[in-house]
Amino acid sequence: MSEDFYEVLGVSRDADEEEISQAFRKKAAKYHPDVNDDEDAEEKFRKAKKAKEVLSDEEKRQAYDQMGHERFEQAEKRGGFDGGGAGGGMGGGPFGGGMGGGGGGFEDIFEQFFGGGRGRGGGGGNRPQPGRDIRTNMRISLEAAYEGVTKEFTIERPEECPDCGGAGHPEDADVETCPECDGQGQVTQVRQTPLGRVQQSQTCRRCSGEGELYSEECSTCSGDGVVRNEATLQVDVPAGIRSGQSLRMDREGAPGENGGPKGDLLIEVSVEDHPDFERDGDDLHHRHAISFPQATFGATVEIPTLEGTVEMDIPAGTQSGERFRLHGKGMPRLRGRGQGDLYVDVQVVTPEDMNKEQREALEQFAEAGGEEVDVDRGFFEKLRNSF
Ligand SMILES: [Zn+2]
Ligand SMILES: [Zn+2]
Repeated sequence: MSEDFYEVLGVSRDADEEEISQAFRKKAAKYHPDVNDDEDAEEKFRKAKKAKEVLSDEEKRQAYDQMGHERFEQAEKRGGFDGGGAGGGMGGGPFGGGMGGGGGGFEDIFEQFFGGGRGRGGGGGNRPQPGRDIRTNMRISLEAAYEGVTKEFTIERPEECPDCGGAGHPEDADVETCPECDGQGQVTQVRQTPLGRVQQSQTCRRCSGEGELYSEECSTCSGDGVVRNEATLQVDVPAGIRSGQSLRMDREGAPGENGGPKGDLLIEVSVEDHPDFERDGDDLHHRHAISFPQATFGATVEIPTLEGTVEMDIPAGTQSGERFRLHGKGMPRLRGRGQGDLYVDVQVVTPEDMNKEQREALEQFAEAGGEEVDVDRGFFEKLRNSF
């Protein structure tokens, strides 16, 4: 059985924080020990809780995505990612507290994989590393979702420093081999743990894993090799897109390290509400008011759609709340052909402000049907007459 945190929660790897906590709430509602005494319920709840904890912490999630489940768990066992939590350094690990003095904690593990907290030179030495994926949001109108749209937008994102090309130092800076790690980029430490002595390699702090030291830092990026820049991009939003779906723009994410490829940009789309239509998947719903005579005698009415108005026949004797379907007048299907339908819910409006002739006509209508209606003395009239 897979223990993968995304699968445990049943979310995609692009899921945002909201989706993750929603998925967790669902699991909790099902498996929380207060509501479910099944034997495996507690275990399932524990797993869901763990998955949510990791995936809703940006740093942990990054580490998890990069390491994969197994290596992440191993790293966690070794050091514990909850360094700041109760019980000190190792509080979060399965050996809770017993490893006091061993140091570790999330920071160290994080640095092993990401290098000096500066986001470069990680993973040990100069291995090319792909850049991070970046996430952003975009709102579009229902009309835009109907037609599809090319949307221009601006984001702030990390980019390779233009002055040093990502190197972190001027091209003509003097270079020497890092004395701390002998140019290896890694230093090996021996730790005493309850399981015995453990050898652990860490990225050299002095040179951030580069194995070399430069006489000068790039002044534009302070040696990071990365600067934050505004970028204006265009994305094609396909017709039929729904709220919560994400568009991926390849290689528009954070720059890679040591020549690694850029990450991707993920754009989560939300489609705005519309005053005339409610969306249900690829179908649309519209409420349309008709008069009592229209409902009685039948009528042809104009119904708005996302591509102009269409005429719709209402048969005689239509009741309030009756639903009509305009085939193929809904949203285009994102993958596949055709369009959803437009459902029109007809609402018969009871007349309120009638003039004298209308009241008389309606009175005659009632009387002709054998109804006794107290036309002149409605509730308020009676009230008035009683004074
Ligand atoms: Zn620079
Ligand atoms: Zn070094």
